[in-house]
Amino acid sequence: MSDQYTFQNPVTQYRTEGFEPQPQEGPGLASELGPTPDHGESTYRGTGRLAGRKALVTGADSGIGRAATIAFAREGADVVLNYLPEEQQDADQVAQLVRDAGRKAVLAPGDLTDEAFARSLVRTAVDELGGIDLIANVAGKQQHVEDVADLTSAQFEETVRTNLNALFWIVQEAVPHLPPGSTVVNTSSVQGYQPSPNLVDYATTKSGIIALSKALAQQLAPKGIRVNVVAPGPVWTPLQVAGGQPDEAMPQFGQSTPIGRAAQPAELAPAYVFLASPESSYVVGEVLNVNGGMPTP
Ligand code: NAD
Ligand code: MG
Repeated sequence: MSDQYTFQNPVTQYRTEGFEPQPQEGPGLASELGPTPDHGESTYRGTGRLAGRKALVTGADSGIGRAATIAFAREGADVVLNYLPEEQQDADQVAQLVRDAGRKAVLAPGDLTDEAFARSLVRTAVDELGGIDLIANVAGKQQHVEDVADLTSAQFEETVRTNLNALFWIVQEAVPHLPPGSTVVNTSSVQGYQPSPNLVDYATTKSGIIALSKALAQQLAPKGIRVNVVAPGPVWTPLQVAGGQPDEAMPQFGQSTPIGRAAQPAELAPAYVFLASPESSYVVGEVLNVNGGMPTP
């Protein structure tokens, strides 16, 4: 059987001709996506790169956050998993995979747009894991709106609160607890450089995450805390079918990248592991683009 460690052509690996439209309500569920995404469940192999680490992952239930969580656990980390209460069934599956890897999974459902809740995640990690030394901010909100006249203030503010404020609240709360060697990995997007006309609010936040991360990275580096960013291209996750793209865009989703297809979440996990682990010790304020070959600055 071939997997992501098999020497093979990345063009034909995970090849699809796009996806059937399959709209979902709310944040969406990975368990309802067809085809079933690959988050590395049956393939990711750990090599001890995060042994004993204490991680907080937001958006851990599905998509890229789920792939990162599985990888972190198999690399030896205990994990606090944040997600929305509606996503409990996805989160339960991920928690089981973390436990199967012999690590501790702490379920912490709740809404990141609530400042008190977002900040409380740090306390949860400190209390339940005995500390915190790795944060992967992966949660994000993306809702396409074709005409700026229809982009409500409520949506604009919710996108900014979810994608930017929550990240700031969590990191600010965590800094006093983060020992030297700790790592923060934030999640931008190719949208941060190449904004789509129908993602005005979302693209703005994804650009903002890069600036915020590069500023913080310089501030925290002298304390031995490294901040970096992963910037994915098109990835097969619930975000896209739950309002992230128009339904009619799904057949072409990912097809225009140089690799000619969308990514599976499993292809993002190694980027998070690399930036989280001590092997990237001299990588600070960097953006690791995992986007199928779209040029970035
Ligand atoms: P996803 O839907 O699987 O994950 C997004 C998660 O965000 C959800 O599972 C949910 O738990 C969380 N979330 C959203 N609003 C929240 C809130 N108010 N409170 C708490 N949690 C909340 O989709 P994904 O594509 O894996 O998204 C993960 C990250 O990757 C996002 O930051 C997204 O912007 C980014 N990204 C995705 C793509 C893509 O093509 N899928 C491309 C570039 C960047
Ligand atoms: Mg989800």
